[in-house]
Amino acid sequence: MTDSIRPDEKTGRSEFAFASEQLVSQVIPTPDAAVRLRPLGLLNNRIEGGLWADRRRVNHDITIPFGAEQLEKVGNLLNLKLAAGASGKYRGADDDTGNTAPFLDSDVHKWLEAVGWELAQFPDEKLLALAEPIIDLVAKAQRADGYVDSYYQAALPGKEFTNPEWGHELYVAGHLVQAAIAWHRGLGDDRLMAIALRFVARIEAELGPGKREWICGHPEFEMALVELYRTTGEARYLEFARTLVERRGHGILAPCRYSARYWQDHESVRTAPEPAGHAVRQIYLECGVVDVAVETGDRELLEAVIRRWESMISTRTYITGSLGSRHQDEAFGYAFELPPDLAYAETCAAIGSVMLSWRLLLATGESRFADLIERTAFNGVLPGLAFDGTHFFYSSPLLRRSSGAEVLEGPVTTRRQEWYLIPCCPPNLMRFLSSFSDLVATVGDGGVQIHQYVTGSIDAPVNGGHVRISTETNYPWEGVVNVTVDESVADSWTLSMRVPEWCPRATASLGGERLAESGPGMIELTRRWSVGDNLTLELDVSPRVTVPDPRIDAVRGTIALERGPLVYAVEDADLPAGASIESLEVAVRPSLGDVVRSEPGLGEMTWITLDARLRQDVSGVRWPFRNVQDEPGFADAGSRIGIRAVPYFAWANRAGLGMRVWLPTRARKSDG
Ligand SMILES: [Zn+2]
Repeated sequence: MTDSIRPDEKTGRSEFAFASEQLVSQVIPTPDAAVRLRPLGLLNNRIEGGLWADRRRVNHDITIPFGAEQLEKVGNLLNLKLAAGASGKYRGADDDTGNTAPFLDSDVHKWLEAVGWELAQFPDEKLLALAEPIIDLVAKAQRADGYVDSYYQAALPGKEFTNPEWGHELYVAGHLVQAAIAWHRGLGDDRLMAIALRFVARIEAELGPGKREWICGHPEFEMALVELYRTTGEARYLEFARTLVERRGHGILAPCRYSARYWQDHESVRTAPEPAGHAVRQIYLECGVVDVAVETGDRELLEAVIRRWESMISTRTYITGSLGSRHQDEAFGYAFELPPDLAYAETCAAIGSVMLSWRLLLATGESRFADLIERTAFNGVLPGLAFDGTHFFYSSPLLRRSSGAEVLEGPVTTRRQEWYLIPCCPPNLMRFLSSFSDLVATVGDGGVQIHQYVTGSIDAPVNGGHVRISTETNYPWEGVVNVTVDESVADSWTLSMRVPEWCPRATASLGGERLAESGPGMIELTRRWSVGDNLTLELDVSPRVTVPDPRIDAVRGTIALERGPLVYAVEDADLPAGASIESLEVAVRPSLGDVVRSEPGLGEMTWITLDARLRQDVSGVRWPFRNVQDEPGFADAGSRIGIRAVPYFAWANRAGLGMRVWLPTRARKSDG
């Protein structure tokens, strides 16, 4: 039984054999799973240069060590010490219900997961030395019966499994399992796995199949259980996950003030037509549902998730890929309710969206899922981390007014903060960046598929042999990707490369010979590839103007600027003194240019340039409405200036508050 493995005290290794020994990846479907593509994992997808390499280096060198400091400083580790027997009072923020935050252990687990993936790729004694005492602490906190959740141990002893709605016990356990899997797969270290398996056994005895009809208000445990099944081969974990997925939607949770939709308990996952309620809960649930569907071959279940994914991207996704329109219940709002200023757009929801699309990409092989991964990773997740590596956004709005409160309510802040009372996002960003290379390429269908473009190398098993490809690019700033075959196999195989949804035309050529030309989708090249073959993929990354669906009322009459996979924004920091983003207007179809510039604090990036007008009549207003007769025409609406737009992920790294993604337009001539 895997719930009693005994790792060696010095090495952390156990006798626990695992099937996918060579693969280091967050999500590893079993050989029998109904998936089209297979992950290559962190060690076979190497990122060696460019934007993602830079961000990942900051994560390794600065953000993760900083995270350990914060976990100590704000009390997450103290809480575990209390659970281990120290005296003191549980520390945690007030949550929505007025209770103390019950989920703070999960941030320790997410941090440990990040370190596990990181050490697998970049061995680092200092990082290991930071993590080991924390693993020991979790072990000491675990009770003899396997239970380990500092909130219930230190703040509410004797109340375990009494509050499915807000208790977050399975959510915490899910993150512990995922951390354990990272250390197991990445390092062969089973110290966390031994803890996690005992906790899961304790939960199973209470709430497993045939036991109490119970689900957790915050999904997460479902996907962790499936991954535990994939790691251990024990079918009971898959059955437990399947049971939790099927229990949902039948009113087990008492409706909260936001209704049962808040925690997706309003309708079965098989029939719910659209995403609903708390965005992170919905998206984490969907991840678990896909995992169950592909491992049980349940096509109906998979299709239900794909239907909701389609509904989500067509009606409830920001141009940045972010999710969650409402502050009140952190929820998906109505269809087309996508306000730019009040966007909740939580970093965790964007990360969850990538996790879900990754699972759907593996299941179906369809490039539209990799398209959303790219859009969301660059524009929904990356803004969450400051360039300095120690400040975080919880919420990434698309409009921040120049004047107004310095700090808005709760986690919605005007500037990135060092940490949050509810610190779910920072350690989630850490594990995202640590595991990001997973998403670059896959294997399947007789070849290799490149989904995300980076400078690096890909190793893949193809046709019983081994293929090695290196890629070099200045993406996303430039659209040229050079792909070199370093090792190949004798038979022909297929090299597939994604042409993103935003790219009108891409070409692939070998030597000087054009092999393929394509719009969005996949370019698939099947041939006998030889060592030294050098392929050039050219994607058109010209800047472009994007208009919203008119049903998104909040941004009607505006345009956004995009270039390649990046969404752009205009910041006060780049406007002349005295001007603000509120006074800005642009033509409906402005001519765009681009320029490479290096800004202090931002480094070298490509900016978009365009002409705009600064309205001079937006200050000193006593009543902000007026007769249309007094509305200036285009020619006299304001002074013309040249402006530049910054990649959205880089905003708020300089002085100045105001920022807007959606730029108001004015027709060239007044109507009538
Ligand atoms: Zn979060």
